[in-house]
Amino acid sequence: MLDYHLHLWQHGPRPLEVTLEHVAAYCEQAKAHGVEEIALTEHLHRFRQADALLNGWWEDERIESTPALRAQMAAFWREDLGNGCDLDTYVEVVLAAKAEGLPVVLGLEVDWYEHRMDDVATLLRGYPFDVLLGSVHWIGTWGFDNSGADAFAEEWSNRRIEDVWEAYTRSLEELADSGACDVLAHPDLVKIMGHLPRVPDEWHDRMAEAAARSGMAAEVSSAGWRKPVGEQYPAASLLQRFNARGVPITTATDAHTLDRVAERRDDVRQVCVAAGYDSLQAYSARTPRRVEL
Ligand SMILES: [Zn+2]
Ligand SMILES: [Zn+2]
Repeated sequence: MLDYHLHLWQHGPRPLEVTLEHVAAYCEQAKAHGVEEIALTEHLHRFRQADALLNGWWEDERIESTPALRAQMAAFWREDLGNGCDLDTYVEVVLAAKAEGLPVVLGLEVDWYEHRMDDVATLLRGYPFDVLLGSVHWIGTWGFDNSGADAFAEEWSNRRIEDVWEAYTRSLEELADSGACDVLAHPDLVKIMGHLPRVPDEWHDRMAEAAARSGMAAEVSSAGWRKPVGEQYPAASLLQRFNARGVPITTATDAHTLDRVAERRDDVRQVCVAAGYDSLQAYSARTPRRVEL
């Protein structure tokens, strides 16, 4: 079993520090709960190098937005970054943990940046990552999964659910086709607030197809159980579609704190088995290998 989606820090303003002790504690917690290997996958946007490359991306006129959404995204970016962490330090600490024999691989959670994924891929190529998660957290400049930000939360009432699912799916397809990442994180994140179309099949088909043609794996995550939707990512019907198209999977918690590492491991395994899976995909140097479920 894997926990291949882990953050060291909660969102919001705080010192973004990374130490060997912190990483070792995550490994210990995972081991104590029957998880053999973890991936540290901090958000790319919390590093100073990403800020230098991407700050102001929300001002790009080609990206769908409103003044309120742009202002909210700018505020979110500032708050979540603070002084930022040095990406080189993060990489060094995780490599040191690996060198000590700890069961951890070096990853990142990479957000979708419309028109900027080539720049992002160039930045990431400079580091020896084992696995890169690809995530759609925003549609245009709308952070649809962020209920703590007023303009983002209110935007849900300005849009038709079907339009939101359509726009999310299009971004996910573009992210997959960019080839910048290895695993689709929380593939149906768009359901987070519990706003579901009556028949999601068309979008589920396209999400599964995007994963299959890109060669990416899909993540099965317990995080959705903690959200208003109250269901794992992805929905059972989407996970079955992944399996039917031969898309491999990872398992994950998306924990932002130590106590959540490996949370609901058995429930996640059950969801995978029910969809017909009997193995997981782990990564070293962005090269996949099969491991036991
Ligand atoms: Zn995420
Ligand atoms: Zn995450």
